Amino acid sequence: MEPQIDIQTGQEIRVRIAPSPTGLLHFGTARTALFNWLFARHMGGKFILRIEDTDIERSTKEFEEDIVTGLRWLGFDWDEGPDKGGPFGPYRQSERLDIYAHYLQQLLDEDKAYHCFCTKEQLDVDRQAMQTQGTTPIYVGRCSALTKEEQVQRITAGEASVIRLRVSEGVIEFHDIIRDVVTVQSALIGDIIIARSLDLPLYNFAVVVDDYEMKISHVIRGEDHISNTPKQIVVQRALGFATPEYAHLPLILAPDRSKLSKRYIETSLNDFKAQGYLPESLVNFMAFIGWHPTDDKDVMAREELIAEFDLERVQKGGGVFNLEKLEWLNAQYIKRLPVGILVDELMPFIPQEWNTQRALLERVAIVEQDRLKRLTDFVESAAFFFALPDYEADLLAWKGADVSMTKGHLRAVLDILRNAPESQFTKDALETLLMPLAEEKGRGDILWPLRACLSGKKASPGPFEIMPALGKSEVIHRIEVAIEKL
Ligand code: GLU
Repeated sequence: MEPQIDIQTGQEIRVRIAPSPTGLLHFGTARTALFNWLFARHMGGKFILRIEDTDIERSTKEFEEDIVTGLRWLGFDWDEGPDKGGPFGPYRQSERLDIYAHYLQQLLDEDKAYHCFCTKEQLDVDRQAMQTQGTTPIYVGRCSALTKEEQVQRITAGEASVIRLRVSEGVIEFHDIIRDVVTVQSALIGDIIIARSLDLPLYNFAVVVDDYEMKISHVIRGEDHISNTPKQIVVQRALGFATPEYAHLPLILAPDRSKLSKRYIETSLNDFKAQGYLPESLVNFMAFIGWHPTDDKDVMAREELIAEFDLERVQKGGGVFNLEKLEWLNAQYIKRLPVGILVDELMPFIPQEWNTQRALLERVAIVEQDRLKRLTDFVESAAFFFALPDYEADLLAWKGADVSMTKGHLRAVLDILRNAPESQFTKDALETLLMPLAEEKGRGDILWPLRACLSGKKASPGPFEIMPALGKSEVIHRIEVAIEKL
């Protein structure tokens, strides 16, 4: 059969992410989605979402919802999918059962597949025997010689069966863009089960039918699927389908190159959102797990990634997941947000009482922006702007300075600020107003008590950053509170 797609000319690049809704959207699936999406956008191709819910018992609508929400949040806009439709739908496997049944029937009619009636007990005994002999356990072929009539008779008699594909011995070779040529002996596969019945196809069968019907040109997926590829190729050959290009992405490893802990593997992408990460940071972070641009850039926004992404530069060896790197990147992306957008992003994380104080929020966001690693950090670091914490008077004394002296210094600051118009409550103007006093009396003696009384905290941004955010009347009030305490 002619290939459906001319891969050489780069025409009709079509890739897919094919999650099984048997769990939340995991980091690994999101990274696979990203590489598919980057490749599609770089090549001007199509990116397709297909929900692989043939495992009816383990698939749920809630998991599908989690996956779709997460992929959408990451900004991977698919061109075709269950919600969007498209020319090769439906895009949910449970809605495609008639298509699989058609191809299964075709294989049965052509005697390329057959019903197998072996019981679990028989198969267990076979498997153990082969393991004892030290050979790869494959199906022994007990039912492969049954005639069609015998198969029909046993089905009619009510015997349970599955559908197996006849796999002849030989070499299966495929090209992998990342791994080059991969060779497997089909004798190591045996006659595989492709369906439990006509309307219950298994993954390795359904995926082949779908990739063909949906004209997928490149199958880009995790390395954990590499052992499935030869099985899918024998199905393709039986059905007369062309083999797509493959690219198996490297595993994701912990920083010490051990297996990544379950904590991260099983974390839903939506939890990263709840932890205050921006989608932009995650996209950038994930892109670098197994791929690098030609130069040593670290921060690469979506558009740059699309422009530079290239499957040829994906590495074979595992890519490292380093949480500190993610936090660092997140801080970089938070710094770059226009303040209005930063405030919008902060909204889901802040207490309700702050929501109504948009102008104050924006001023505070400007102060805190460069310090945030995660959006969730804001609540703690910015709280003092919204309510002065209770603090002890000795917080105000710089290095054990005398109380009455500290009080005098705060009074002097208060006098200057009372006379300053609101318009002077900018960082530069306030510095011009107060620094001569600070130089005269000693910087620590003036600036420490001022900063401490404004924040009520041992550590905070400096007074010239805090004051413009608080505004004149609140600044005056907080200094008065401090003088009262001394
Ligand atoms: N449904 C499979 C999974 O969630 C992916 C299949 C594939 O990419 O071929 O792991």
